[in-house]
Amino acid sequence: MARKLIARLALVLVVFNACIRAPRTFAAAETAKIDGVNCLDAAAFGQRFGLHSSWLEPEKRLLLQNATARIEFEVNLRDVIFDGRRLFMGSPAVYRERSVWISAIDAEKLLTPLLRLGLDRPPPVRTIVIDPGHGLPDDGAENKRLGLKERVLTLDVAQRLQKLLEAAGCRVVLTRTTDRAFSPDKKADLRHRDEIAAAVKADLFISIHFNFFAMPGIYGTETYRFTPRYQIPLSRSNHHPDDDEANPGDKNDYWNTVLAYCIHRTLLGEIGSADRGLRHNDYAVLRLAPCPAVLIESGYITNDAEGRKIATAAYRQHIAEGIAAGIRAYASLGLPPPSPPPPAVAPAPRSTPPAGSSLPLPAKK
Ligand SMILES: [Zn+2]
Repeated sequence: MARKLIARLALVLVVFNACIRAPRTFAAAETAKIDGVNCLDAAAFGQRFGLHSSWLEPEKRLLLQNATARIEFEVNLRDVIFDGRRLFMGSPAVYRERSVWISAIDAEKLLTPLLRLGLDRPPPVRTIVIDPGHGLPDDGAENKRLGLKERVLTLDVAQRLQKLLEAAGCRVVLTRTTDRAFSPDKKADLRHRDEIAAAVKADLFISIHFNFFAMPGIYGTETYRFTPRYQIPLSRSNHHPDDDEANPGDKNDYWNTVLAYCIHRTLLGEIGSADRGLRHNDYAVLRLAPCPAVLIESGYITNDAEGRKIATAAYRQHIAEGIAAGIRAYASLGLPPPSPPPPAVAPAPRSTPPAGSSLPLPAKK
């Protein structure tokens, strides 16, 4: 009985959510349900932000553009190019009735926050939790040829980042400061990392990782936000009932996207690595985070060329600086530009010194 009630309640919530997902300003012709996903006509969505649409390739690649933003969609792909950076949506773009359609959740939770970048102030940033991924007994990723272990590298980058952020006046807390994880039980260990963030009332949660893949040819940088509710994480291709569950991380969807974008952009700029995209996944540390949170995979240690760079302290310092620059960019969004210094005013010339002045007159030449 209780299960039936919960199922019914879940259905009501799904329907309610579907109703509020699409902005009310969209006309019926601009919305459609495609393969069970509430979609918007991408061109109509772009118009709301003053973006003009045109085909880069008829029926395949659509461009939305104005003076300040450029978005390229490709039919059947989840990744889009946004101002030259790669972003992953939750659902692929779809071609139908001479238009490209995108999911209403992607429009609301991925593209809108980025098109509004700089218009809104994020919540204040005072305390930052940095999470060095893994820790004994879990080494994380490994490159035996180069003798690299992820747990060692993540702690090193976290400590470098800590110094940079503390120098900028932030309070910084690390989820681990030694080689060891909190618990050998992976679930308990990951949960503990977010419990630390909650205990110190963190304003941001930054999880540091390095990536691995069985094929050593893969390399580049990935930045993750938490997958919005009802969407499928990139690690899966099929819907799972868990995708419809509510999670603590949901309330930060908007700022998760903004934070991940700010860091992804500055990190790539700093280390010049390949852009493997601003991605999304249901990682536990993101799902349970009490504040805006990202997980950063700066590079693949299983790729020998990238691994050799990561093995150097100089490259890891660049990684820390790229992340710190992204956090600074995020924290200063929506602030008025710094006002120029007041013009220097030359004192009025005086023929006689003011009464009581001891200043000597300049000698006549
Ligand atoms: Zn990792």
